[in-house]
Amino acid sequence: MNIGTIGHVDHGKTTLTAAITKVLSERGGAKFTDYAEIDKAPEEKARGITINSSHVEYETDNRHYGHIDCPGHADYIKNMITGAAQMDGGIIVVSATDGQMPQTREHLLLARQIGVKKLVVFINKVDVITDPEMLELVDMEMRDLLTTYNFDGENTPVIMGSALSALEGKNPEIGVDKINELVKACDEWLDLPPRDLEKPFILSIEDVFTVPGRGTVVVGRAERGVCRKGDEVEILGYGTKLKTTLTGIEMFHKELERAEAGDNMGALLRGIKKEQIRRGQVIIAPGSMKSVKKFQAQLYILTKDEGGRYTPFMQHYRPQLFLRTADITIGLSWPEGTADADDKMVMPGDNVEMVCSPVHDVALEPGMRFTLREGGKTVGTGIVTKVLE
Ligand code: GDP
Ligand code: MG
Repeated sequence: MNIGTIGHVDHGKTTLTAAITKVLSERGGAKFTDYAEIDKAPEEKARGITINSSHVEYETDNRHYGHIDCPGHADYIKNMITGAAQMDGGIIVVSATDGQMPQTREHLLLARQIGVKKLVVFINKVDVITDPEMLELVDMEMRDLLTTYNFDGENTPVIMGSALSALEGKNPEIGVDKINELVKACDEWLDLPPRDLEKPFILSIEDVFTVPGRGTVVVGRAERGVCRKGDEVEILGYGTKLKTTLTGIEMFHKELERAEAGDNMGALLRGIKKEQIRRGQVIIAPGSMKSVKKFQAQLYILTKDEGGRYTPFMQHYRPQLFLRTADITIGLSWPEGTADADDKMVMPGDNVEMVCSPVHDVALEPGMRFTLREGGKTVGTGIVTKVLE
C-alpha cells in the first residue's frame, strides 16, 4: 500500500517519516532512514515536471508500505497531480503549536481530488504544549476540516504525539508509543486499494486493421480489468457508442481466451467496420464509463524551466488533451461563478482547477490523469475531478 506524509511546511512530516522508520526498524520492519537522508530528496522528472520526493518502505505486522515525503509544498502539488508517486492513503501532519494552516487545507483538498478516501491525522509537537485544551481545539478543528473536504471527520483516527521525541528516543509516552499507535491506525483505518484486475475492463485503442477473412481487429493496451472471448463490450468516444461482442483475443499471434490489465492485445469485434473505429476510443465493460463533453480538472501548468510555456494564458486557451491514446483539442475556462473570469491569468507554475471542454466526447472518469500539449511540447498535466456533461 502506498501512503505519504502531507501537511503544512515545518509541521514535522519529514521528522515523522524518519521516526516511523526508526520505531519500525526496532521491530525489524524497516531500515532506519535518518532525517537528513529523507530531506535530501532526489530530483526526478515525471512528464517533464521536476519533482523532489523521498520514498521509504516499511513493514507492519500485516502490511508493506511504500511511503512518500516531499521537501516542498510545490513538490506535493506536482506529485499529487501527476501521480508520480501514488498515494492510496495518507498521514496528515499538523503541528499542535500552529493548528491547521493554508497548506494543510490545500493538501486535504488535493488528496480528496486525486481520490484518496481515508487519512490518519497526526497532531505533532505535543512536547511543547502545556495547555491540554489547545490539543482538544486542534483535534476538533481537524475533524471539522476533514468533514469539509468530504472525509469522515468523525471517525478518522487522530493521534497526538511528538515525532521528534520518537526520533530522539525520548518521552516514550508521546514518542515511540504514539508512533506505534499511528502505524496501528494506518493498518486498521486505511483501506487497501482495489487491484487493477478487479476494476471494470478498459482497452485504449491504438490502431485498427482489417484482416481478410476475419474482420476488424482493434489493437491496444488493456489498462485495467479482465476480458474474455465472448464478452459483451462497448466502444466509446468521438461521437461513437456501440455495443458488440469480443469474438477473439490475440497476443503475439496467438489466440487466447482471456487478456488482463497490462496486456497489449488485438481484439476481434463482431460486425464492426474499420471506419467505425479510431485511435483514442476505448473498449470497455458495458456501462462502466461515460463519454464526456465537459469536465472539471485540477491542472498543474509547467514552468518555462520544465519545458512549458513562457507566458501566462487566459480562459478559452485551446491546447491538446492527451488522455490515454486520445489526442483532442480542448477549451479551458473558469468554473461557473468565478469572479473576473475574463481577466484572470494562469501563470506557468500555477496549480488551478478549470473546466475542460473537448471538441469531441472522450471516455473518462474522476481520477484519470492527462497531459496538455501545445506545439509538440507538454504545457500542463491534470487530473479529472468532476464530470460535468
Ligand atoms: P516538514 O517541513 O513538515 O517536513 O517539517 P520537519 O520534519 O522538517 O520539521 C520542522 C521542524 O520542526 C524541525 O526543526 C523539527 O525538528 C521540528 N519538529 C518536528 N517534530 C517535532 C516535535 O515533535 N516536537 C518539536 N518540538 N519539534 C519538532
Ligand atoms: Mg519535510
